[in-house]
Amino acid sequence: MRVTIIGGGILGTAHALESVARGHHVVQLEREREARGATVRNFGLIWVSGRSTAELEAALRSRQLWEKLGADVPGIGFRPVGSVTLLRTPGEVAVAQEVVARGDAEYRGFRLLEPDAVRAVNPVLRGTYLAGLHCTLDAAVESRQALPALREFMAAGGRYRFVAGAEARSVDGRTVVDDRGRRYDGDLVLVCAGAAHSGLVRELAGDLPVRRVRLQMMQTAPLDEPLTTAIADGDSFRYYPGFAGAALESLRRNESQHVVAEQHRMQLLCVQRLHGGLTIGDTHEYDEPFDFDVREEPYAYLVDVVEEFLGRALPPVVQRWAGVYSQCVDPHQLVCRTSPDDDVWVITGPGGRGMTLGPAIAEQTADFIGL
Ligand SMILES: Cc1cc2nc3c(=O)[nH]c(=O)nc-3n(C[C@H](O)[C@H](O)[C@H](O)COP(=O)(O)OP(=O)(O)OC[C@H]3O[C@@H](n4cnc5c(N)ncnc54)[C@H](O)[C@@H]3O)c2cc1C
Repeated sequence: MRVTIIGGGILGTAHALESVARGHHVVQLEREREARGATVRNFGLIWVSGRSTAELEAALRSRQLWEKLGADVPGIGFRPVGSVTLLRTPGEVAVAQEVVARGDAEYRGFRLLEPDAVRAVNPVLRGTYLAGLHCTLDAAVESRQALPALREFMAAGGRYRFVAGAEARSVDGRTVVDDRGRRYDGDLVLVCAGAAHSGLVRELAGDLPVRRVRLQMMQTAPLDEPLTTAIADGDSFRYYPGFAGAALESLRRNESQHVVAEQHRMQLLCVQRLHGGLTIGDTHEYDEPFDFDVREEPYAYLVDVVEEFLGRALPPVVQRWAGVYSQCVDPHQLVCRTSPDDDVWVITGPGGRGMTLGPAIAEQTADFIGL
């Protein structure tokens, strides 16, 4: 088949990979010169640890697919670094104890570590914390390198073409028309336009059950030593469904977040880039219209938290940015996948786990529509 894919982010690219792998020809359109949405703004974390039980199988499958991609396409920078969630309060330790005691802990690669054992895994963590929840399965990729590397890999096979600077404006049967009037004839159209819920997506699929979420992020200059795992703080328990349970309920009742973290709905996630800099975030803003400026207070707070864990000063912050993702409002769905007709599918709303789940979502789409 000839598959036309709209959108150059991870969902579009993962669907392109899956289509090419199944023997089809793909043309992928991106309205910008290079993808500019959530994918290139994210941490690049393949985050198995906090997935709900219902999502775990897909997360584990996706982790496998990423590992294979990492072997086929070294340019994506896949590395099985694992993560340590650093715990600062008794309530956070109780949540970790609860999840480590569950039957699925070994599938997530969970181990609860005393501070000395944390430092054996990640010697940079010389600062203050009570314990660390190690997840050996979490991994990282280089989100700003991955998309071009994957495209180059697909192009080498001769059945893939990327068209940059081509905004899809309409779909006429199975033909996509871009903003220069160019027509792309095919047999199947997959629309992966990320958080662009209006315009073409609304015309094709109406108002989808999705919302948008805005996050603030930053990156430091290179750290002069390796951060051997990704790190998170106990606030991340409040955001990831895999930690839900009696201990988390008790934490919510008895321990409040830092006032800045609560106000900006924050957690700490931090991963070292291949060039040594640390990508650090994040905040969550749910109510539109979103701020178009970035707020300083959350950045200062995150620097303090990371410095507390590392027991040392961070290199200077050199980049700050915000990103928006699309999130399906039904927590039981991995993604919002809808078809205006059998030949046109709109796929969006993977939320804050789209990088993790992208390859598995594409595989599921392909199975579902019999690609
Ligand atoms: C700050 C931040 C951090 C995150 N961290 C992580 C993480 O560490 N791990 C994780 O699993 N998930 C993370 N996520 C979530 C993840 O990044 C997203 O779920 C995922 O990238 C969504 O991919 P996408 O392809 O649907 O959208 P996008 O990456 O936004 O791509 C959509 C693309 O479609 C293009 N487009 C839109 N309309 C058209 C059109 N009409 N014609 C042509 N092109 C069009 C856009 O220009 C854009 O490039 C994070 C998200 C953010 C914002």
